[in-house]
Amino acid sequence: MSKLSFTILGCGNSTGVPAIGNFWGACDPTEPKNRRSRCSLLVQSADTNLIIDTGPDFREQLNRAEIDNISAVLYTHQHSDHVNGIDELRVLRHRNKLDRIPCFANAFTLEDLKARFHYMFAGGNHDLYPPIIDAHTITENDLGKVHNIADIEFIPFEQDHGTCKSLGYRFDDFAYSVDLVDLDDTALETLKGVKTWVVDAAGYNQTGNPVHANLKRIYELNDVIQADMVYLTSLALPMDYQTLLSELPHGYAPAYDGLEIR
Ligand SMILES: [Zn+2]
Repeated sequence: MSKLSFTILGCGNSTGVPAIGNFWGACDPTEPKNRRSRCSLLVQSADTNLIIDTGPDFREQLNRAEIDNISAVLYTHQHSDHVNGIDELRVLRHRNKLDRIPCFANAFTLEDLKARFHYMFAGGNHDLYPPIIDAHTITENDLGKVHNIADIEFIPFEQDHGTCKSLGYRFDDFAYSVDLVDLDDTALETLKGVKTWVVDAAGYNQTGNPVHANLKRIYELNDVIQADMVYLTSLALPMDYQTLLSELPHGYAPAYDGLEIR
């Protein structure tokens, strides 16, 4: 597999930072790394761009990263903050002169997306609105196994997101885990040997968050995974960048929009 690079296109939780009303919560508005769009990741080889999730900030994120060509989208789950920019795939299809854009997700996510964005899958009520998406279901049987899109290999694994299952993705010795509250032994098995782990920590220092892991649980999980570097993502309004940096142990850091990992 060719060398990969990873760019955090967005590391904010569902509200983004600042939230509407220019509400920054505990985040210092003068720290540029506190300005967070909704979670998305760009994975690049020499020839291929992949995107994980197309949230509401997707257009801005691609323009900021100067990306106008993607080979596929991998979806983690169906929550709006991870999918609501899906309509922008129309523009990418047109620019890339593709027939359809391959999108990978679990069956539940695809069913939900087909109901909400039916025209993206089936086309609209006129030839002017062709189908955009070539849907690929990641089944139970695909979990923990190597798949590829062009020259990029990935391994999907299932995560417990409280009210639904989400998918995490491993690429070589890097893995991306949004949104989750916990991981089971099967997922941990897939994650073993990962050197860099980007993980949802929106639970921060709360106890009993039903859908997001807190820091304590992330530390416990990484005791098993043993990643050298853990970047926290899905960062919420109470999570100020510099405060987090000072609180986190060695080998942990908050992500920020535009962070490149090579
Ligand atoms: Zn979610």
